[in-house]
Amino acid sequence: MQARSNSGDGKPPRKYYSARKKFCVFCKEKVTLIDYKNHKSLENFISETGRIFPARVSGTCAYHQKQLSKAIKRARQMALIKFTEDKKRLT
Ligand SMILES: [Zn+2]
Repeated sequence: MQARSNSGDGKPPRKYYSARKKFCVFCKEKVTLIDYKNHKSLENFISETGRIFPARVSGTCAYHQKQLSKAIKRARQMALIKFTEDKKRLT
């Protein structure tokens, strides 16, 4: 199957390759259970606006991404991390 390029330089689209290999940090640290009380480390996986980074961005494996999203949602309910950040209104 040939991936169609939209840049016109013959290279496949951006999503088919990346500059460096991503790895799951929880697998590296051999974490078996992600604790929602450890909100300091969870904050590395949410964006400035409070959104959870998708696994393709953070490199987290499916097993840990599922745990991570649950832990973040729990931490939000416990008011340890924010739900969202208000966008600064410039106008
Ligand atoms: Zn993992």
